[in-house]
Amino acid sequence: MPPRDPLTALDTHEVANQPPILTDYELYERDPVLRAAVKREGAGWAKPLLRRFGAALGSERVIELGEAANRHPPELRAFDPFGRRIDEVTFHPAYHELMALAIDHGVHSIAWTADQPGGHVAHTALEYLLVQVEAGVCCPLTMTYAALPVLRRHTGLAALWEPRLLSNIYDPRALPIDEKRGATLGMAMTEKQGGSDIRANTTRARPLGGTELGEIYALTGHKWFCSAPMSDAFLTLAQTDEGLSCFFVPRWRPDGTRNPILIQRLKDKLGNRSNASAEIEYSDTWACLVGEPGQGVKTIIEMVHHTRLDTSLAAAGLMRQAVVQAVHHTRHRRAFQKHLVDQPLMRNVLADMVLEWLAATLMVMRVARAYDEAAGDEAAALFARLAVAVSKFWINKRLPGLVYEAMECLGGVGYVEESILPRLYREAPLNSIWEGSGNVICLDVLRTIERTPAALEAFFDEIDSTKGTDGRLDAVVTRLKDRLGRPKAAIAEVEARALALALQASLILRHAPAAAADIFLEARLDAGRGLVFGTLPAGAPCQEIIDLARVGA
Ligand SMILES: Cc1cc2nc3c(=O)[nH]c(=O)nc-3n(C[C@H](O)[C@H](O)[C@H](O)COP(=O)(O)OP(=O)(O)OC[C@H]3O[C@@H](n4cnc5c(N)ncnc54)[C@H](O)[C@@H]3O)c2cc1C
Repeated sequence: MPPRDPLTALDTHEVANQPPILTDYELYERDPVLRAAVKREGAGWAKPLLRRFGAALGSERVIELGEAANRHPPELRAFDPFGRRIDEVTFHPAYHELMALAIDHGVHSIAWTADQPGGHVAHTALEYLLVQVEAGVCCPLTMTYAALPVLRRHTGLAALWEPRLLSNIYDPRALPIDEKRGATLGMAMTEKQGGSDIRANTTRARPLGGTELGEIYALTGHKWFCSAPMSDAFLTLAQTDEGLSCFFVPRWRPDGTRNPILIQRLKDKLGNRSNASAEIEYSDTWACLVGEPGQGVKTIIEMVHHTRLDTSLAAAGLMRQAVVQAVHHTRHRRAFQKHLVDQPLMRNVLADMVLEWLAATLMVMRVARAYDEAAGDEAAALFARLAVAVSKFWINKRLPGLVYEAMECLGGVGYVEESILPRLYREAPLNSIWEGSGNVICLDVLRTIERTPAALEAFFDEIDSTKGTDGRLDAVVTRLKDRLGRPKAAIAEVEARALALALQASLILRHAPAAAADIFLEARLDAGRGLVFGTLPAGAPCQEIIDLARVGA
């Protein structure tokens, strides 16, 4: 007889019918949808990097780091032991190790350092892998990635900061920039009286005069949310006589003294616990103007445009982790004489969730390519602008329900902290709230359509590449074009949802197995379906779909 596993043979009973722990699997290699999308959307060259990163992230050690970074949240150290203000935040070593791993693989930098097209696609794939293991570190990496185009508008700042921001060395020390080997950037816009309505900002900027770095101001006011407060600098908004303006606020002044970024407290958040989110005050804080005075929103919107890509891709990555866990568990757990995955109702639920993740992943990867193409292609830039808002809205709306359903697939243990599902569940609503909450994004979609009809044309051009392939999609698109031809009559949320589903359907027709595509169109374009998971029509090829999320033995 083969030796019995000592862990299953307890004195009192045999531990039976429990799945093996899902660890030591390669996140990239085992994701056929991502692999194909990376190649198709133009970042095939990043395969070795993605393989290495995916293998590291799936290792038992890194999975444990993700757990530890969330179990031991950051702490504020506003003062040194003798009462002097330092405004620092301490993190568990696991957080630092994860940051170092991500920065070493260029999550924050590859979009800007790649020597061939596809940098944004590679960035998207890297962060999609990372978020599956730890979502909190994605915040500072995203902000660093997204701030670069804005920083580049200021040649003096860019000369000093860009080499550190694009460095693949993680240097968490609180030091002036010229003493650092790597740096990160944050963003502070939201104030107490208004987050979506940032024009309500009250922080004042007092001009101090010109220097070789340009126009310098002193800021006084507050920011109600400022995540990653240990970033080396922040892009922020404040009022000048000309109106709301964009500023660069470093942690240290150019003379080597601490710049007052006074951390009042850290938020006690639902999830995203490894990442610190602070309330801060500025008190005559040194700030360098970026862009034109009074043009703050126009300047910082470029950063927001890039963070929106990440808030979309993060939702797709979180979906991937949830469906992988659900499929793994149900393939090993038996109930009523069958593996759960073979029970017809469970198969339907699983396949339905896998379809949702599949559509989300195809969409974010396609949108990422538009970011790569945007530099020299106006239509791509317009498509990116509209499609990223649509995808941020829709994938994030679908995510909490999907994570909850995945949790239920695990039964009781899904509700227990040691399975990753509770962490995913707490994380799930966040990406919808920041960088434009649901309603605000939908209004933004309508505004874009109204002011820039060419963006809608670019969006429909993409969908029309499958025109004539499936009558159900053609009918939806015809109705949508008619309604959006009269945008004043449109209902923002209805149209954003319809645009998202039409794009997903078109992508799935092109890039998914035919049977899966057929079921997706039936299950999502039919108004009566898709409200809960598990309503795929009879005869759906569930097993074929479920296998897309099978990673373990
Ligand atoms: C964990 C976390 C970290 C964050 N980190 C940062 C950060 O680093 N930097 C930063 O600047 N901000 C940060 N934020 C703030 C975030 O971006 C804001 O919370 C968000 O923009 C919404 O602003 P608000 O909280 O003021 O809500 P409000 O603007 O009051 O909105 C509340 C609700 O009303 C809806 N709404 C608003 N206007 C309309 C309208 N015209 N019609 C219909 N509905 C409307 C919104 O969609 C939202 O659902 C963070 C938030 C969280 C939760």
